Amino acid sequence: MTAKQVTDSNLPVARVGVLGFGGLGQAAAKVLAPKREMILVAAADKHGYVYRADGLNASECISAYQCLGSVGYLEPFGKLTTESVEELISLSSSVDGYFLALPNLPNDFIPTVAKQFIKLGWRGVLVDAIKRTSAVEQLLEMRAELTEAGITYMTGCGATPGLLTAAASLAAQSYADIHKVEITFGVGIANWEAYRATIREDIGHMPGYSVETARAMTDAEVEALLDKTNGILKLENMEHADDIMLELAGICARNRVTVGGIVDTRNPKKPLSTNVKVTGRTFEGKISTHTFTLGDETSMAANVCGPAFGYLKAGMQLHKRGIHGIFTAAEIMPHFVR
Ligand code: NAD
Repeated sequence: MTAKQVTDSNLPVARVGVLGFGGLGQAAAKVLAPKREMILVAAADKHGYVYRADGLNASECISAYQCLGSVGYLEPFGKLTTESVEELISLSSSVDGYFLALPNLPNDFIPTVAKQFIKLGWRGVLVDAIKRTSAVEQLLEMRAELTEAGITYMTGCGATPGLLTAAASLAAQSYADIHKVEITFGVGIANWEAYRATIREDIGHMPGYSVETARAMTDAEVEALLDKTNGILKLENMEHADDIMLELAGICARNRVTVGGIVDTRNPKKPLSTNVKVTGRTFEGKISTHTFTLGDETSMAANVCGPAFGYLKAGMQLHKRGIHGIFTAAEIMPHFVR
């Protein structure tokens, strides 16, 4: 770690970058702003990047992105470029870890970005909030390359997969056998444009759609679809990596895990309370269900970015101990970032 400052716990301050500066990337910058153990030093979007080793001001980054269209406009540390991710990785060897808040469109986009980190010889910790099982599978196949590159990669570390998968892993400990894990999420956002990738990726789970058809939809087509559904997306039996993560953690077979939910794109109030129900049999033969419910006031951004940085911190501790490779949110506890 290349930190300069020292916190009261004597831990060096970690330098953190955020790739993707849309809804979650901007929320991530706000989450980091009051933290003492991590500072934001780098951010990238599709049109540029900004890098300052001594720390960036989250509000200035957000206003450059919202008013001008890219963090690359932020003078004197920003740069406009179509190769923002590659250029930023190349010059930011002093960044300890990155949160990949990028769209995973196409379905191998984030794995491709991970390959760029490896190719450019960057060492450190990466965390994603990736959602699909098939995307996590691609990353898991890169375990040996990541290990060899000296990268500690934390995957599936948002809300679901992420916080709720970890909660399921914890809840499972009461049982001798786990019968089912049911994740049901409610998301309320005021307008879909604040989270374009999230909404497009969700549409990709609807009957008759795929990642590719959702990716190819114009904004007008997304709006037309949302007009038809009154802004509501109802999602059932989603291909969500909570299943493979719980299987790998030895909790239950993936076919015992289901994920679904309702997204209201026109109202910040959650349409239902996000929860995970873990049903199993205790050693005495009793069948029971543990339920973990998120507070309705917590936003999707809070429930994704908080855990992502918690897992980034956990990953940094592994990295410091020379432990590289890939880990999921179901096998490691997040560490609270002060
Ligand atoms: P968004 O559409 O709001 O923002 C995406 C950002 O990525 C934009 O700043 C865009 O400029 C940037 N970008 C796109 N292509 C790029 C490229 N080639 N190089 C550099 N930057 C690029 O996205 P969002 O709604 O914030 O979602 C981000 C990701 O988070 C999605 O993959 C979504 O599925 C995931 N997510 C996960 C969870 C979870 O609980 N696990 C929840 C919500 C969202």
